[in-house]
Amino acid sequence: MKVNIDKYSGFCWGVVRAIDFAEEELARSGKLYSLGDIIHNPQEIDRLGAKGLATISHKDLESIKDAKVLIRAHGEPPSTYEIAKKYNLEIVDATCPVVTKLQERIKKFYDENYQIVIFGKKDHAEVIGLRGVCNDEAIVVKSVEEALTKVDFSRKTVLFSQTTMDKPTFYAIKEALQGKVRDLVVGTMEEIAKTFLAKDTICGQVSGRDKKLREFAMQNSVVVFVAGKTSSNGKVLYEICREENPSTYFVESEDELNPQWFEGAESVGVTGATSTPQWLMEKVGAAIERIDKEVFQKAAQNN
Ligand code: SF4
Repeated sequence: MKVNIDKYSGFCWGVVRAIDFAEEELARSGKLYSLGDIIHNPQEIDRLGAKGLATISHKDLESIKDAKVLIRAHGEPPSTYEIAKKYNLEIVDATCPVVTKLQERIKKFYDENYQIVIFGKKDHAEVIGLRGVCNDEAIVVKSVEEALTKVDFSRKTVLFSQTTMDKPTFYAIKEALQGKVRDLVVGTMEEIAKTFLAKDTICGQVSGRDKKLREFAMQNSVVVFVAGKTSSNGKVLYEICREENPSTYFVESEDELNPQWFEGAESVGVTGATSTPQWLMEKVGAAIERIDKEVFQKAAQNN
């Protein structure tokens, strides 16, 4: 059985950058607090934890004194920066530049009195930051149905997306809202042309993965998808794999592997989310090779 590690999977550059920021600071001072998990991957959190990175929640900000706090790639709402200032905390800002750009765009349209619609998950950390830049007045929707019931068609509207959502649903929402908003807003042709805008802000690191991931899933008889169970990007990419190859299994680590999955398989592909470290996929790959060897040895003994 051949085990293939997907060379296109692993950390996106926004996450690599956040980890670099953390490691640089840890090398300097040996202590850093991360506001929320730096990445949705328990093994990587443990690795950085051994170097001095501790995860805290927002309510801990008032009790850590004069410390350094890392803002992870998802970003934070303006209120977090204000709280940090109040408690004299130094911010190590690792907000992904793609997210920063999205926050700026939302703020700009909000200041121009647009109704802000975000295709995303209301309580996802990135979306909490996006809601924060528009005074928590954005309408967050996950589906066409939700968009059609929640959006006020009489207002000029702009649609954005959380960076890790799927493109087909974004474009379906765009299409559903487009005509309705324009039909209801009255004004000059020029004004009407500006009444509904939609900007696909799904990160290229996520959407560009689709095609390559589909190919990888089809090329292997079994696929093991490695990601943290709370990774939103992981869930989306796992579903894509499963669409192409029903023999796809989700694991957080090599401990969850089931030897029965590999019976009769010619090849096993190991892939992961943008939050999955390369070293972890290699570890899972090595464990699958061990399982294969054990099965082979048992079969040889029985013959
Ligand atoms: S997926 Fe894209 S937006 Fe999100 S952290 Fe990575 S590079 Fe940044």
